Amino acid sequence: MALEKEIECPRCEETHPFYRTAATTLHLGEKSKWRCPECSYGYIEINGISTLEA
Ligand SMILES: [Zn+2]
Repeated sequence: MALEKEIECPRCEETHPFYRTAATTLHLGEKSKWRCPECSYGYIEINGISTLEA
């Protein structure tokens, strides 16, 4: 799994190479946290599905 990926940041309203800050394996699958390098906006992804947080 990549440590960086291009994400459109809802706070910056631009695409940035978000970096992965943590990854946990759950019985549901893999949970990972991603963070914007510009504004520190973060969100959680489970099994590749984004659960965007404000
Ligand atoms: Zn941002």
